[in-house]
Amino acid sequence: MSQCAGSALTQLSEEEQIFRDTVRRFAVEQIGPLVRGMDESQQMDSALVQKLFQLGLMGIEVPEEYGGAGGSFFNAILAVEEISAVDPAVGVMVDVQNTLCVNALVRWATEEQKKKYLSQLASGTVGSYALSEAGSGSDAFALQMRATRRGDAYVLNGQKLWITNAKESGLFIVFATLDPAAGYKGITAFLVEKGAP
Ligand SMILES: Cc1cc2nc3c(=O)[nH]c(=O)nc-3n(C[C@H](O)[C@H](O)[C@H](O)COP(=O)(O)OP(=O)(O)OC[C@H]3O[C@@H](n4cnc5c(N)ncnc54)[C@H](O)[C@@H]3O)c2cc1C
Repeated sequence: MSQCAGSALTQLSEEEQIFRDTVRRFAVEQIGPLVRGMDESQQMDSALVQKLFQLGLMGIEVPEEYGGAGGSFFNAILAVEEISAVDPAVGVMVDVQNTLCVNALVRWATEEQKKKYLSQLASGTVGSYALSEAGSGSDAFALQMRATRRGDAYVLNGQKLWITNAKESGLFIVFATLDPAAGYKGITAFLVEKGAP
């Protein structure tokens, strides 16, 4: 068996340890006292969401040029792990924001889209990743939502389900098919701002 040249994943760098400990302290001290109330009222505490932004936990991987923390995907995982140990609902909010929404934009968005939306996601806009439908969970390519070009816009028709952060979100990454006959190759994603018709 060959040995890995780098450190094992269980050995955090000093920077990662400091980051993890900071998030852990925040989760225990600031989220912990709110958990029961949020569960009972089935509401995310809006002041808590603002604190998550202030600490940079909603834009961990957003490059600094767009106002983010310029961290790594691994930093995002550390944050999600520490927050989830205290409140998995807040953990999944931070997870979807960072590892789905921000990550998709960092990888696939145009420069113009990055400038606009990554800055928003780092500074106060919650994001959602709308892929699943009633008949399409693990089998994501079975999605039915249709996108049809009308003039210089697209019309999206269909329904999504189980969309994390939907209530708080200002931006939705919505998956739809332009051509069902093309299978997965017909599927693309749209950036839909809250309130769009
Ligand atoms: C807390 C939470 C948050 C979520 N947030 C979002 C979100 O933000 N955006 C979004 O789009 N979706 C979201 N979802 C939906 C989630 O992505 C789906 O629940 C997931 O894709 C599974 O789909 P399903 O529930 O329809 O289960 P199914 O796909 O019906 O799967 C049911 C079971 O069958 C197994 N299975 C499925 N296919 C196979 C196969 N081919 N071979 C063997 N076993 C198989 C699965 O492993 C599973 O155990 C969320 C779900 C949860 C629970």
